[in-house]
Amino acid sequence: MVSCEDAKNSPMKITSIKGFADIFPGEVETWQWVEAQARRVFSAYNFAEIRIPILEKTELFSRSIGETTDIVEKEMYTFEDRDARAGAGAEGTKLTLRPEGTAGVVRAYVEAELYKIEPVRKLYYLGPMFRRERPQKGRMRQFHQIGAEALGRGDPYIDAEILLLLHDFFQSLGLTEPALQINSLGCSECRPQYRANLLAFLKEREATLCGNCQRRIDRNPLRALDCKEPGCIDATKDAPSLLDGLCAVCAEHFATVQRLLGETKVNFTLNPRMVRGLDYYCRTTFEWTTKLLGSQSAVAAGGRYDGLVEQLSGPPIPGVGFAMGVERLTMLLRLQERSDAGGLDLYFAWIGAPARDWAFPLTHRLRQQGIGVEIEAESRSLKSQMRRADKLKARAVVILGDDELAKGLAVVRDMASKQQQEISLDNLETALTARKAN
Ligand code: ATP
Ligand code: MG
Repeated sequence: MVSCEDAKNSPMKITSIKGFADIFPGEVETWQWVEAQARRVFSAYNFAEIRIPILEKTELFSRSIGETTDIVEKEMYTFEDRDARAGAGAEGTKLTLRPEGTAGVVRAYVEAELYKIEPVRKLYYLGPMFRRERPQKGRMRQFHQIGAEALGRGDPYIDAEILLLLHDFFQSLGLTEPALQINSLGCSECRPQYRANLLAFLKEREATLCGNCQRRIDRNPLRALDCKEPGCIDATKDAPSLLDGLCAVCAEHFATVQRLLGETKVNFTLNPRMVRGLDYYCRTTFEWTTKLLGSQSAVAAGGRYDGLVEQLSGPPIPGVGFAMGVERLTMLLRLQERSDAGGLDLYFAWIGAPARDWAFPLTHRLRQQGIGVEIEAESRSLKSQMRRADKLKARAVVILGDDELAKGLAVVRDMASKQQQEISLDNLETALTARKAN
């Protein structure tokens, strides 16, 4: 048995892991609001939710995201499962905490052969992702994404639809930021030539690139355009533009995306340097960025990935999608004072045990009707009860004391307008229910 004496000598306090955060009430309401808006907007575009595992085989990510990306090279939480057979040198299956959602969604789509039933699938997901990066503002090791994937369509209309969905989503939150940047990465027809041009350009400046970019220059020269080292940003300032080397099909695809955005009045800027941090992208890529969050500027990002389904052993089915960082989004909501306050419908303040006992069953009946009610837990002064109601962001307070009880009425105070009203106890339940309905 643990005695009080033992507790005093207890070992060091256990803390959370660096880069992993708890989300407490007070903040979680904003998350719930964001998630509810996402579900509403995504449904309007006929996207359905898919729930995929958090743990996958390591190979899924190395094969899809790309061996030479930062994520696969150094950021994944990977471990060996305990399924190794007894014997010398036997290894268990390598498993990885998902660093992103697209690979898992495509794996599920291929594994369940969803394309045989209906090749066009519009799917969305939300949940935690894991990358072992340097934790800082807007950059966590466990972070959360809301993402969507449209599989089975290669046309530019669906690229535009995805961008409109994001536009509507940000608008539904009342945000004026982030802003949209788009680019085209070309396809297997036109990218090789661009890659060769870029490689030649980089080779001339190799000495000024960071060690990481130098190392992967031959295997993946495009990565240098995505590198955040000042030396690399400077060295690639005048790099050849992807947009100048697009083949006719890619150029037309990209022109249509831009035309559709114009016709639907969605503002965007072209950013020919945007290559994104994952290798599977082609044609349209995009980022929604804001200047309000410092260097962690990307709130949502994505693009087209026509080769990915095939790369994960499925048929040649095109796809396009995005992922949005919920931590960055909620930070932006706070900065733009768009955070939904949450709060409670009603707070019951009582003076004296008979008033409490009268209020208790009513509290229950109101809660059963979906009205958010809290009732004071201790006998305290009215002033301190009002302070508590304020703290809980109650929209209204019902005040019931011995005097009121004797007169058969209660006082209902609207916390926003500060107006008070006396209501007879016989009508109280109806009046409070009506308040909620309005
Ligand atoms: P960045 O350039 O900021 O590193 P990224 O290119 O790695 O972002 P993606 O992999 O495309 O980002 O993920 C999409 C979104 O997920 C980002 O725009 C961002 O909002 C969010 N995100 C990515 N990594 C993190 C992280 N470590 N912590 C918090 N949010 C993140
Ligand atoms: Mg990153």
